[in-house]
Amino acid sequence: MSSKPVNSSKRVLIFRAAAGVGFLAVGNTKFAVAAEKLSPTDPYPKAMGFKLDTKEVDQVKYPRHTNEQGCHACQLWNGGTADFGNCSFFNDAITPRTGWCKNFKVKKA
Ligand code: SF4
Repeated sequence: MSSKPVNSSKRVLIFRAAAGVGFLAVGNTKFAVAAEKLSPTDPYPKAMGFKLDTKEVDQVKYPRHTNEQGCHACQLWNGGTADFGNCSFFNDAITPRTGWCKNFKVKKA
């Protein structure tokens, strides 16, 4: 294995690349946590009555549910006007704006 000296322009490039990877790694670490999509078949979301579409919620089991309720209208969701956002109740997992669970809390005005 050779150990040629690296000229200064290569050092700058290597430094920039390393800095970029580090930044991405930091970004990816946070993103990886937040990038998990919540599955309605996983035990805890299932126990919370989570559905990807609020219209699929069992009205008999959850009589206080209305079709106007959805992640988009829940104070624990941060998706704004996007189709998907993060739910802080489920550790920032991604849920669709149409989703719902029994922990729904109406967004304060
Ligand atoms: S807590 Fe709110 S944002 Fe999270 S899944 Fe339930 S309804 Fe959606």
